[in-house]
Amino acid sequence: MAEHIIETRQVPVKEAFDLIVAGGGVAGIAAALAGARQGLKTMLVEKSAILGGLATLGLINWYEPLCDGAGRIMTTGIAEELLKLSVAYGYGNLPEQWTRQGEPKPEPQKRYASIFNPSVFALALNELLLKNGVELRYDMIASWPVMKGFRCTGLITESAGGREYFPAKVIIDATGDADIMARAGVPCRNGTNYLTYTAHGCTAESVKKALDSNDMVHLNDSRFWAGSDLNGLGHPEGLHFFWGIPNEERSEFIRLGQALLLEKIRDGLKDEMCPYALPGMAQLRKTRCIVGDETFTGEDGLYRENSIGAAGDFRTHGKHYEIPLGVLFNGAFPNLLAAGRIVSAHEDGWEIARVIPTAALTGEAAGTAASLMIGEGKQAAEIEAREVQRLLEKNGVRIHF
Ligand SMILES: Cc1cc2nc3c(=O)[nH]c(=O)nc-3n(C[C@H](O)[C@H](O)[C@H](O)COP(=O)(O)OP(=O)(O)OC[C@H]3O[C@@H](n4cnc5c(N)ncnc54)[C@H](O)[C@@H]3O)c2cc1C
Repeated sequence: MAEHIIETRQVPVKEAFDLIVAGGGVAGIAAALAGARQGLKTMLVEKSAILGGLATLGLINWYEPLCDGAGRIMTTGIAEELLKLSVAYGYGNLPEQWTRQGEPKPEPQKRYASIFNPSVFALALNELLLKNGVELRYDMIASWPVMKGFRCTGLITESAGGREYFPAKVIIDATGDADIMARAGVPCRNGTNYLTYTAHGCTAESVKKALDSNDMVHLNDSRFWAGSDLNGLGHPEGLHFFWGIPNEERSEFIRLGQALLLEKIRDGLKDEMCPYALPGMAQLRKTRCIVGDETFTGEDGLYRENSIGAAGDFRTHGKHYEIPLGVLFNGAFPNLLAAGRIVSAHEDGWEIARVIPTAALTGEAAGTAASLMIGEGKQAAEIEAREVQRLLEKNGVRIHF
């Protein structure tokens, strides 16, 4: 049998956009929001039927801290707006001290972080993007970048309506897997993952707490883990690690995760919990990121002249990072930008860059950079860091720690 087939088909050309964002996780949402607020005609393409990516569909409902764990806020702008939105309708546990702006923080170690309800957050995100004039396309896969040399002229999408082509001036890849960048030929770095499977449910204790306190938030805070934690504890002995890009492997990741949870339920978990939601996407932390003009490796305390925003460390207290502009692009590709867990990062840097606040931060920076590229007719590598910083600062982003 032949190794390849060659496919030729006519694809209808649809409406043109200034900016197309592929992927509606927190990074894609921040990117589309930033672009639209800068006046760009923006479309967001999401392959599932809800916004939020891992944070909602993936049931990862803990917004890691925006602060440094020593009382100082690090990550602001859309990252902070989204944290507030995630708890705007209740269901959160944001420490009260962080809701009183400008006052000294009585307990600096209490972090600016919260649990949230994934369903309510997804609904609020939908409303936010619509209010900001983003063309939202659900249940549509951004499948291929159309390339003219190193320039991307637009995206081919797939949906029940068929295959379509949308021209665009700038494309932001926020797919979490660098699908678009990798297919465009941008060099990428591969990640590895332990087997993790987290579901949501309630326990007799959480129901009692909710009833006793008349606060439904207690129904929101029971996660059930099968497999490994962040550090590999619980990864089944003898099982290989997962890259998560080849579909055989990704499907195996999901199959094994589901089997492990069912085994736990059979072994007695059923007496303690009632599951009500399974993750709608693979809970892979790091699959693929781009190799950009710069790579963030997580150097604590390093000042970056071309910083696009500051971050703390969710794993520990008192660390300070600045993310450089060059993580968003590979200069050979003039109009492609990365956002979220696929920005150019390595080692500790990838751990810091991949979580919800930092994904929103790089998303906002990418959307802002796109507006400058379009407004000034520049390639990604030509935009001035101080111009990106000026716009980000105007929108409340803290650039330096
Ligand atoms: C097990 C686990 C635990 C975690 N725990 C935490 C935690 O407690 N707190 C925290 O802050 N972070 C945590 N994280 C990290 C965090 O959830 C994610 O890294 C972050 O939400 C990434 O956001 P993103 O927008 O970059 O990517 P994603 O959330 O992956 O979003 C990508 C979006 O793009 C869509 N998409 C993908 N491909 C296409 C395509 N071709 N076309 C159209 N749409 C596409 C997807 O459906 C998805 O909506 C955890 C991650 C994992 C896996």
